Amino acid sequence: MKRDTQAGINPFPYSDSNKRYHTFEYYLRQRFGEKCARISLDAGFTCPNIDGTCGAGGCIYCLDGSGSARGGGELAEQYAAGIAAIQKKWKCSKYIPYLQAHTNTYAPVEILRHIYKEASSLPGAVMLAIATRPDCLDPEVVSVLVETSRSIPVLVELGLQTIHDDTAVCINRGHSYSVFADGYHRLRDAGGDISICIHLINGLPGENKEHMIASARSVAALKPDMVKLHLLHVLQNTPLHSLYLKGAYTPMEQAEYVDVVCNQLEYFPPQTVIARVTGDAPADVLVAPLWSRRKTAVSNDIDKELYRRKSFQGMQFSP
Ligand code: SF4
Repeated sequence: MKRDTQAGINPFPYSDSNKRYHTFEYYLRQRFGEKCARISLDAGFTCPNIDGTCGAGGCIYCLDGSGSARGGGELAEQYAAGIAAIQKKWKCSKYIPYLQAHTNTYAPVEILRHIYKEASSLPGAVMLAIATRPDCLDPEVVSVLVETSRSIPVLVELGLQTIHDDTAVCINRGHSYSVFADGYHRLRDAGGDISICIHLINGLPGENKEHMIASARSVAALKPDMVKLHLLHVLQNTPLHSLYLKGAYTPMEQAEYVDVVCNQLEYFPPQTVIARVTGDAPADVLVAPLWSRRKTAVSNDIDKELYRRKSFQGMQFSP
């Protein structure tokens, strides 16, 4: 029985609500029987794009590894604090420890093995999420991810951001699309209980609607397990912040963002889980765009626009 507030008229098959795209919540309920909470963790990694290995200074929008878990400390303590914060908002008993800050496959394999084991053993953990870059997926690292997935499902959060190499240079990303494709396919072909979530950012400097849709279409052709669509945020004291102050960068408007996301959703395969349709910047460091603080309003606008178009995820997807 569909829980459809649109009186049963939602034509999208991977939904039991008014959502016309395959939400992460729907996926979790199908897989684990209930909504699960992601708990962001900082395991003390760094990033090759910060320490000089492939670049210095990091991506121009990066603030302290761009994770919401900041400050470090023991994983178990961070995890307990994260759960306590979630429990104030809603009750749940299943969790996804999320190694989010910096590049969480960038260390010797023995250290990776140790941290993954510790994180996957945290109480209530049903899946382990690991954020990384495509240039940090060499064969030994991929073997550790496969090994870890024998004890807990692994979700690799893989940053691509754009398929356009000139944009990647502009944002100091430190890798090209071909490096992404190499890492992605190595991981995809490795087997194990590993899901891959590809991240794209809308509103990157120099990109227009056509650029963003082209990125989505290329990613859609990979038929990925999951995708996260982010909005570029200007965070305090980043190189992007300097560009913004000089008037050299203009953030997207809300209506423009909603239009682009709806177009992108139409190209993704219906089976691909859309793990995020809006960004999630820490309020204390967000400079612009401030409309992005109203996440529910943005998400509602996407729902309304898909409804208005009589559209849904995958409408333009060609298998
Ligand atoms: S890859 Fe991530 S952690 Fe590294 S510089 Fe870019 S945003 Fe920061």
